[in-house]
Amino acid sequence: MSDCLFCRIAKGEIPSNKVYEDEEILAFKDIHPKAPVHLLIIPKKHIATLSDAQAEDAPLLGRMLALAPRLAADQGATDGFRTIINTGRVGGQEVYHLHLHVLGGNAPLPAML
Ligand code: 5GP
Ligand code: ZN
Repeated sequence: MSDCLFCRIAKGEIPSNKVYEDEEILAFKDIHPKAPVHLLIIPKKHIATLSDAQAEDAPLLGRMLALAPRLAADQGATDGFRTIINTGRVGGQEVYHLHLHVLGGNAPLPAML
């Protein structure tokens, strides 16, 4: 997906503030942080939305989720954080390459639910 923003970030064609990278996953700081710590964890391969993930992607999704506590703590969010995946129009997804938001900081985030 040469025209996908997060594919281009994953390939290094567009710069990002990386905080973690392995063969399958990249994590970087959100360009418009909604909290003192706001990371995006993405698969390097293009998956447009969570609804497009296949059964064989389950280990990858699990690894993305399992990275969140470690990366949040690395960034100083040591007292909790929030994970969000916006999916599709109703979910408010703006970038159509699957990403896991990790939000944290010092003060409690506003309640959502
Ligand atoms: P969504 O609404 O799709 O779940 O969230 C997309 C997120 O990507 C937003 O929080 C937005 O600030 C972030 N974002 C959009 N463009 C860029 C970019 O070029 N670089 C980085 N680091 N984040 C971006
Ligand atoms: Zn993509």
